[in-house]
Amino acid sequence: MEQLSLLGQQNADTRSPQTVTWNPWHGCTKVSAGCQHCYMFRRDEAIGKDASVVQKTQMFNLPVRMLRAGAEKGAYKVPSGSHIYTCFSSDFFHQDADDWRQEAWDMMRSRRDCTFFLITKRPERIAACLPPDWGEGWAHVTIAVTTENQREADRRLPVYLSLPLRHWAVMVEPMLSALDLRRYFTEYADPEGRPLISSVSVGGESGPDARPCDYDWVLDLHAQCVKHGVRFHYHQTGARLIKDGKEYRIPRRQQHKQAHKAHLDF
Ligand code: SF4
Repeated sequence: MEQLSLLGQQNADTRSPQTVTWNPWHGCTKVSAGCQHCYMFRRDEAIGKDASVVQKTQMFNLPVRMLRAGAEKGAYKVPSGSHIYTCFSSDFFHQDADDWRQEAWDMMRSRRDCTFFLITKRPERIAACLPPDWGEGWAHVTIAVTTENQREADRRLPVYLSLPLRHWAVMVEPMLSALDLRRYFTEYADPEGRPLISSVSVGGESGPDARPCDYDWVLDLHAQCVKHGVRFHYHQTGARLIKDGKEYRIPRRQQHKQAHKAHLDF
């Protein structure tokens, strides 16, 4: 046993999975209306930092960092089974991160015991940025696309839905207009006719300069999802909610709660 231990045998990892945020790089540039009040720019401006400079962060290698002491010494710091929100202070497919992305893919490949979730507004860059062994997609990696209005849906979704992915997820946040996604549910479907898009998540805009989100837009998209069997999640109301023609200012701490109370998720 002692010899096996010397060869690297480790105790079983008894830690529970965690939800972790991994920002391998930080900084971005704005590409569309949804970026106008990007929270990352707001936060960086508040501390005098230029958010448009994309830089590697100190947590770049987080998924493969090891514990150096304790009962689980030698195990990964991020426990097995964890869900890793990836690149939430940049865009994973930003061109200024091209030199680092392969290494990030390598880390994701070596952590197939975890799941990774990324969101991009640059689906047109994905195909050229995938790792060579991506094939039809990695089951433990979800690349979601975000679209804030019909124009961006019509620009991004045909590209996104033609990519080799194992999961397709659409974030409509901040929702800035009504959206008709019906053609993307019917024209991009599996052999049984089920939409490739498995989920749609909707939210209004937060922050001091938030633009309004009309509840009728939310209900309409919800009805489209119900009809086509696509999971729907009403994530948050945003700071300015229009309901029955009247505008409501929703404090930040109430935005998730109020959306949850609408009972639209399925
Ligand atoms: S793509 Fe995302 S991170 Fe980049 S500026 Fe737009 S909202 Fe911000």
